[in-house]
Amino acid sequence: MDNQQLREAGLKITVPRKKILELLAQPSARHLSADDIYKALLDSGEDIGLATVYRVLAQFEAANLVKRQNFEEDYSVFELNQGPHHDHLVCMECSKVDEFMDKIIETRQQKVAENAGYKMTDHRLIIYGICSKCNKKRSKQKL
Ligand SMILES: [Zn+2]
Ligand SMILES: [Zn+2]
Repeated sequence: MDNQQLREAGLKITVPRKKILELLAQPSARHLSADDIYKALLDSGEDIGLATVYRVLAQFEAANLVKRQNFEEDYSVFELNQGPHHDHLVCMECSKVDEFMDKIIETRQQKVAENAGYKMTDHRLIIYGICSKCNKKRSKQKL
């Protein structure tokens, strides 16, 4: 994801657009909310307002550069619209997001669609639960 992709998406290269793209391209920062992005930019000394972050994300979404994921009500995270297909695991306690790909699940979904006469174009699968870190915290609290 670089300047080239901004241009191809018909977007001029501006500092906020460039910085937000760079942030989302970091492997450790694949699923970020507008708030996360705003804070990360602040931490790295960028003076980009929250309203600008929202506007840039909406532009990216419209240009198909990012995917908006609504894992929870009133809470969206954004990830770059690239790389291989994957599904998500979401922690209900700390909102951590993990990714997975399961060939058997993928094949089954194709079959379900086919059997119903559909040609599958996309799907979303989200597993909600409690992540291992939060599970550990919980069991400690019980002691
Ligand atoms: Zn958690
Ligand atoms: Zn993802």
